[in-house]
Amino acid sequence: MRNYLKHYINGEWIESTGSETEEVINPATEEVIGKISLGTKEDLDKAVKAARDAFPSFSQTTKEERVEMLENIAKEYENRKDEIIETITDELGSPLEISENIHFMMGYNHFSQAAESLKEFSFVEEHGGHTRMKESIGVSGLITPWNFPTNQTSTKIASAFAAGSPVVLKPAELTPFAAIILTEIFDKVGVPKGVFNLVNGSGSVIGDGISSHPDIDFVSFTGSGATGEKIMKNASETIKKVALELGGKSPLVVLEDADVEGAAKAAVSHIATNSGQVCSAATRTLIPSSMKQEFEEAMKKALDDFPVGDPREGNYIGPLVSKKQWDTVQSYIEKGIEEGATLIAGGTGKPEGLDKGYYTKPTIFTDVDNQMVIAQEEIFGPVMTVITYDSIEEALEIANETIYGLAGYVYGKDPETLRKAASGIRAGRVKVNDADADFSSPFGGFKQSGIGREWGDYGIEEYLEVKTILGYPS
Ligand code: ADP
Repeated sequence: MRNYLKHYINGEWIESTGSETEEVINPATEEVIGKISLGTKEDLDKAVKAARDAFPSFSQTTKEERVEMLENIAKEYENRKDEIIETITDELGSPLEISENIHFMMGYNHFSQAAESLKEFSFVEEHGGHTRMKESIGVSGLITPWNFPTNQTSTKIASAFAAGSPVVLKPAELTPFAAIILTEIFDKVGVPKGVFNLVNGSGSVIGDGISSHPDIDFVSFTGSGATGEKIMKNASETIKKVALELGGKSPLVVLEDADVEGAAKAAVSHIATNSGQVCSAATRTLIPSSMKQEFEEAMKKALDDFPVGDPREGNYIGPLVSKKQWDTVQSYIEKGIEEGATLIAGGTGKPEGLDKGYYTKPTIFTDVDNQMVIAQEEIFGPVMTVITYDSIEEALEIANETIYGLAGYVYGKDPETLRKAASGIRAGRVKVNDADADFSSPFGGFKQSGIGREWGDYGIEEYLEVKTILGYPS
């Protein structure tokens, strides 16, 4: 049993001032695997004070010192590899292979990439008649969701550390244990006292407290649009800068000359990976009408490559994170049926033989109209909608007919059409065919998918203020 009833404040594990706790459940077994303390406003105040006190010296550390710190973190993170993988599988239910190749690796890449980006980063720039200095923004409050316990936390922490900003982190209540390991790593490598503070707790107390705290200068949040809106409202009271990475309903545009099997498999992998609990996942596949039958058959066949089941038994799709998430996804599947979309795979209920655990059938709807609720709202589960189009112009119109703009995907061969499609999609990141991940690339959304960018040098910029100096003696 993992019971963590302390917060990490000013370089020490200290008792919570509140007595409330919350149980953490393994979504594959529905068993309680531990509990955390729900922090109070008093705990948060202590953490913010520690970060504030650490600010003058941490913001003045040299770039080289911070590069070394990030490299040491990356090394120690690697030393804890097996434990990180096990922990994420237990708290999130993600298959061991996904915990290793995606969750563990993304965390590692953020720390090592931040070190690399920092080496190249200029904090002082001469621009003709003026000098620009980039200075740490101050104290940062970080609020993270449950779907990527190490990725979401690491990208924010690594960028903040690179910029010289002390942080207070509140991880998601559903998946708090990976953040405990990160905290132990920072402690072990000697991150200075007060530079990293962890306060566990609820969104309504600690999350709300961070977004309205007068002594926090910047809030970086990843999560739902509804919570992002509350955070932005709260932050406005103290004119706090916010970075928000919110939802998505990303399109995958299959071009006429695409390899059908490859594109169908790629589409299915979007709803399969992390059980579809990915904000940048493609959840609307746009296919030429002429390709409809062939593509649908290829998608059904591709499902065989993504087995659902016990995350410790070599499956690709584990359970959803919670009963609440399972109920939400079920109600969207019901809605799709009610709206008249055609179900070609999956549906409501649990997959055969998987009664225990929050397992869902990977579900594909075709004959979807882009105005349907299932095509407009983020489902956050293994549910794909397939929409047909008759011209590339129509495809782009459908792709952009959404309040979101986090990501887009294009599959095909003709370079000119690929370029036209990639540049026509209004989103923060567009991936052409099976392009490799690049952790130095900016990540964030257009429209209601958010504000700001994470990863690499753009991530570091978020935690900085620009100071203009006129007449700076050279
Ligand atoms: P979900 O509903 O999928 O859990 P949320 O956006 O509510 O997504 O959660 C993401 C993070 O935001 C979690 O750490 C959660 O505790 C936190 N959170 C929830 N409500 C608030 C709030 N009112 N203010 C700040 N943070 C919140």
